[in-house]
Amino acid sequence: MTDLPIREELRGIQPYGAPQLDVPIRLNVNENPYPPSEALAADAAKAVADAVAGLNRYPDREALDLRADLATYLAGESGVDLTPEQVWAANGSNEIMLQILQAFGGPGRRVLSFAPTYSMYPEYARNTATEWVTAPRREDFTVDVDDALAAVVEHRPSVVFVASPNNPTGTAVSLDLVRALHDASPGMLVVDEAYAEFRRAGTPSALSLLAECPRLIVTRTMSKAFAFAGARVGYAAASTEVVDVLRVVRLPYHLSAVTQAVARVALAHAAELQERVEQLRSTRDELAESLRSLGLQVPDSDANFVLFGPFDDRHAIFRALLEHGVLVRETGPEGWLRACVGTPEETETFVRALRKVLAREP
Ligand code: PMP
Repeated sequence: MTDLPIREELRGIQPYGAPQLDVPIRLNVNENPYPPSEALAADAAKAVADAVAGLNRYPDREALDLRADLATYLAGESGVDLTPEQVWAANGSNEIMLQILQAFGGPGRRVLSFAPTYSMYPEYARNTATEWVTAPRREDFTVDVDDALAAVVEHRPSVVFVASPNNPTGTAVSLDLVRALHDASPGMLVVDEAYAEFRRAGTPSALSLLAECPRLIVTRTMSKAFAFAGARVGYAAASTEVVDVLRVVRLPYHLSAVTQAVARVALAHAAELQERVEQLRSTRDELAESLRSLGLQVPDSDANFVLFGPFDDRHAIFRALLEHGVLVRETGPEGWLRACVGTPEETETFVRALRKVLAREP
């Protein structure tokens, strides 16, 4: 590998990814523990069969039916009316972010975010030759408005990424902060709402600011609330002008006919999936309380995971949990671990294992 004429900044770098271990309780990549229902699986199988019958043709390059269904879903979920032309879809919100930096980042340009945050952002920056800069969050992992605006003045970023709720801390930002960042930023503001459906009651979505913020992009995914991580569908909501720019950099026919078909089926089953989201939210709140009752700190989470700690040696805790068959994630600030919300049974087993680990019982 070292002999290959690769870009200097890629030399010696290992591919990114959490360990994919076959253990009984996997709480490490913020997945939804509930598989699609039998009814959804049956409808998806039929839709795939129909799509396969036409696979000699390229898919709908604009994915307009899917984008119309996504707009309908967002109207129901957040009460914000968007046209299909204001919604854009791709293979996971990962691909959406990459397209955003391809269009608005690049050599000589900067992307700013607030650390600790999602570990893929610097990778998108590197891959698009965009300079990656961060400003720190407060000790409680919230973003201070004055610090954020000072960072914008200092760095003059072409793009600002704010994950809300943030991975790995679970914390959301206020709409006042989003509005202030938008107005102070010379470039695009991306609010990454991958976990938005898990937000607590009363936390509004940044979608409601699209009408007044022309350089705002809100990204979402079907990987979490829709329990559709394996299908790879992410999407963005923005002005039509912004979407038209993303359409310039997308690869032609980037979203397969099979992907478009199964995504539309999952959207048709949104109500049933929403019940699972309710369940996960209440399990999340119970999990946070259980961890706090073990004497740990847990920032309030609006996502389907919690950050917990701090530990003197988080790796030792991670290893000990693994010996109990529970896989969590060593990520984010030193001393902290992250676990996503499983079924009530999985979550209970995790808490029981952690109690034993902390008490140093076998
Ligand atoms: N944003 C955040 C904050 C995430 O945590 C994730 C997934 N871990 C993503 C985006 C990407 O999700 P996907 O590509 O599956 O849509």
